[in-house]
Amino acid sequence: MIPRIDVRSALARKNYTGELEFTFEADADWLDIPYTEFSAPVSAKLYYEIRNEDKVLLEGTVTFALKGLCSRCLSEAERRISYETEGVFSAFPKDVEYGFQNGFVDLREFLRDSVMFALPQRLLCDACAEEE
Ligand SMILES: [Zn+2]
Repeated sequence: MIPRIDVRSALARKNYTGELEFTFEADADWLDIPYTEFSAPVSAKLYYEIRNEDKVLLEGTVTFALKGLCSRCLSEAERRISYETEGVFSAFPKDVEYGFQNGFVDLREFLRDSVMFALPQRLLCDACAEEE
């Protein structure tokens, strides 16, 4: 399950930084590689820094596993992918910032983008990956 960051109560407790570690199920439609699926929940390890009640920085790693058929030879293939990600959340978002409202940072869109950036264009088995 994806936690939210309660910015106002964190600030009230003077918790300006923190760590979140959790797993969640990715949506199947995040993935557009044929014959491939997420074989386990996505795990996320994130650090946040609350700059003020309107701005939160996040960085960390998302890790997930893909399972399916090799895009080249159609034998069974499995890949584990770790991706370093970061994002800026703002109550007044501009450009590439994520928005948040009412003091709660919702991480779902950021996590979806992180996973989608991390996805390879295709899934290859070990033998085919070595030949690349
Ligand atoms: Zn292959």
